[in-house]
Amino acid sequence: ISSLVHEPKKDGGAEGHYGHSPGCEDGVRDPEALATFWQPLKLFAYSQLTSLVRRATLKDNDHATKYEKVHNFKVHTFRGPHWCEYCANFMWGLIAQGVKCADCGLNVHKQCSKMVPNDCKPDLKHVKKVYSCDLTTLVKAHHSKRPMVVDMCIQEIESRGVQSEGLYRISGFSDLIEDVKLAFDRDGEKADISVNVYEDINIITGALKLYFRDLPIPLITYEAYPRFMEAAKITDPDKRLEAHHEALKLLPPAHCESLCYLMAHLKRVIQNEKDNLMNAENLGIVFGPTLMRAPDLDAMTALNDIRYQRQVVETLIKNEDILF
Ligand SMILES: [Zn+2]
Ligand SMILES: [Zn+2]
Repeated sequence: ISSLVHEPKKDGGAEGHYGHSPGCEDGVRDPEALATFWQPLKLFAYSQLTSLVRRATLKDNDHATKYEKVHNFKVHTFRGPHWCEYCANFMWGLIAQGVKCADCGLNVHKQCSKMVPNDCKPDLKHVKKVYSCDLTTLVKAHHSKRPMVVDMCIQEIESRGVQSEGLYRISGFSDLIEDVKLAFDRDGEKADISVNVYEDINIITGALKLYFRDLPIPLITYEAYPRFMEAAKITDPDKRLEAHHEALKLLPPAHCESLCYLMAHLKRVIQNEKDNLMNAENLGIVFGPTLMRAPDLDAMTALNDIRYQRQVVETLIKNEDILF
């Protein structure tokens, strides 16, 4: 029995968790660095340096499995005798004796589930789909830094060229977008999204937008949402930027990492505005409601929020080099 039992952990994160800092680099977190952060000269030097660092770290997959993840416990009826993998005691009863994590398969008492540390390691045996799967669960199950949909679609779009007119604004044929989704759900990182299979680039952009729309927790999480809305309402540009930077810290690391990667890509899209006719304002309209959703607000407030959602995306794109 003892080999089945997880040692109860007191510190909740024995593996050294990734930390709640936005972006891929250190250095902006401490107050002193923040104080000097806004001086224009340093700002420029800093942005040059961090984009170099980021580009170097994008390939690094070592941190992927260090993202902290909560278990996804569901009440479970066990057949045959079962022991709790947290406290090692017997699970009594005939039905609903305990809970089972749908992502990693950990079996514990209902009351023990509150004490289990956030060390869920999803197993591909349990995580079957790619779309509609929680983002952190997906990257942990696949041992990647970001969802493969994000990396593969962005790389495919950039290899074809971001000059395509109306990129992200024009919709691809929805049956084919659905087809890409099925390919990812079925084949994961082996999905073939090359130009031989999907000739129209708008299918790929459509599949990426659909991925974000289908997330059970949006890329900009419900928890962080109100802070981003507050940030967008600030009129002073420096203070507004600083508030966005603070709001980014509320995102789980895997969400922030994906957002950072997406924004660097969208920045390259707007740098080609002359050809694709897409600027930060257009992309804000497209991506605002795709990346964030109001957590159960009344219809009126939700409607009011739309323009601020747009502005958040605009700010993130324009300042991606200093914010992340
Ligand atoms: Zn789990
Ligand atoms: Zn127990």
